[in-house]
Amino acid sequence: MRASAKAISCTHPSLHLSHPNIESFVWNNLIRASTRSRVQNPAFPPALSLYLRMRLHAVLPDLHTFPFLLQSINTPHRGRQLHAQILLLGLANDPFVQTSLINMYSSCGTPTFARQAFDEITQPDLPSWNAIIHANAKAGMIHIARKLFDQMPEKNVISWSCMIHGYVSCGEYKAALSLFRSLQTLEGSQLRPNEFTMSSVLSACARLGALQHGKWVHAYIDKTGMKIDVVLGTSLIDMYAKCGSIERAKCIFDNLGPEKDVMAWSAMITAFSMHGLSEECLELFARMVNDGVRPNAVTFVAVLCACVHGGLVSEGNEYFKRMMNEYGVSPMIQHYGCMVDLYSRAGRIEDAWNVVKSMPMEPDVMIWGALLNGARIHGDVETCEIAITKLLELDPANSSAYVLLSNVYAKLGRWREVRHLRDLMEVRGIKKLPGCSLVEVDGVIREFFAGDNSHPELLNLYVMLDEIMKRLEKHGYERNTGEVLLDLDEEGKEFALSLHSEKLAIAYCFLRTSPGTTIRIVKNLRICSDCHVAIKIISKEFNREIIVRDCNRFHHFKNGLCSCKDYW
Ligand code: ZN
Ligand code: ZN
Repeated sequence: MRASAKAISCTHPSLHLSHPNIESFVWNNLIRASTRSRVQNPAFPPALSLYLRMRLHAVLPDLHTFPFLLQSINTPHRGRQLHAQILLLGLANDPFVQTSLINMYSSCGTPTFARQAFDEITQPDLPSWNAIIHANAKAGMIHIARKLFDQMPEKNVISWSCMIHGYVSCGEYKAALSLFRSLQTLEGSQLRPNEFTMSSVLSACARLGALQHGKWVHAYIDKTGMKIDVVLGTSLIDMYAKCGSIERAKCIFDNLGPEKDVMAWSAMITAFSMHGLSEECLELFARMVNDGVRPNAVTFVAVLCACVHGGLVSEGNEYFKRMMNEYGVSPMIQHYGCMVDLYSRAGRIEDAWNVVKSMPMEPDVMIWGALLNGARIHGDVETCEIAITKLLELDPANSSAYVLLSNVYAKLGRWREVRHLRDLMEVRGIKKLPGCSLVEVDGVIREFFAGDNSHPELLNLYVMLDEIMKRLEKHGYERNTGEVLLDLDEEGKEFALSLHSEKLAIAYCFLRTSPGTTIRIVKNLRICSDCHVAIKIISKEFNREIIVRDCNRFHHFKNGLCSCKDYW
């Protein structure tokens, strides 16, 4: 998030006042200037070497020396040494130094030290509270952050933003939205969210696919007269795209005007790409280059993904070369991943292998997963077995790898291997990640889990689902039981399939929304081919547009067809 650095950066309030000691003033300014160096994480920070020279010249550091110096520290060991000096020099009572210490320990990845520094403060001021909340949230200790947040004697907009942003970065999107709501309803408060808060909130809506919430946040931004600059605009594009509304994303993009930077262009290119609009994506890429904006690594991930989704093998190959030769972007593992995906889905397993062999880095889970998926589609059992071995070496608890391989075996009727895999999962204590689908109905986000039998409206849901399935069967739908993991009997398999979370979510929407309303579902796993077939028929027979975002891309189901053209 581009705004995050801005939100908690601070300047010593007395920095610009006349300085009593001219010698330390000069050194402090040198230290300050050196922290602006563009070199990331140098082995020995220039600010630290300046500090040592300052001490060699017997110049006494003062309050203004440490805040900037601490910003450049990248190891907790050095941080502890400076902390000791601060104590010796008797500067530990300065609030600005205190906050800088917390921030330093946090950015060194040592939240416990940050907490110690915080606990040593007798009367922490607002910036120290904010710093310790940020430190805990950043380290994933969101519940501790929340406890501190609730304990704070007073809060400013930075406190709220830090906490909301913390929830988003820990994946607790619903909590982020609910905290934003409480900020809205705070009685008698003059606090107004800023662009940074709104970016985090939009990001939560995007992850949840909560279009109604997202629209409401957009309306709020308009109402409060906040300017939609390129940063906020990019967040809005991302939100609308991830919530399935490509038209709105496009509208925001078109209104952004000429100040669009590479982030904004890339957000829109990514939007087209994830919606499977490969042609629009590549056209926009050409427009961006024409406008003189230089594409970066992120842009190329989107462009290559568009080629994957469109099955555009030779184009993908072309862009991959252009990226390196024309734009000097060295391929990262994500780009190699796209190339492996591109070739293996198209059945060119050998070319995919060549990409894997040509990579300068070790292939990761994504690479082997892409190879496995392509090999699975094209029935290349040998490649599947190699890929899965590699996958499980890297990530022994990867349940979806087991599931994919067992699907391959199941398709071939090799039930002994399926059973063996299932035993292996049991012995290793690996649980299949439950499928989960989210829908937003009347502004409330509902979650459905595969085979969920705890839902309060279970009976109604099952009756509705049964009705839907019966009508589908009249129109030639046959349950595709090939993709069910367990070697259950046929009836058991059918039952397991009908309980996939997206089907439950659709049944719920049929109960709760009026006919013709578009249904939007966000799913955590890849949609299975049985659900894909079923939803296509539902979209026609019940005349409903259904938009499903799975972990890979969007599927727009309309009139019996899907936008992915069954290639996903
Ligand atoms: Zn399914
Ligand atoms: Zn589809």
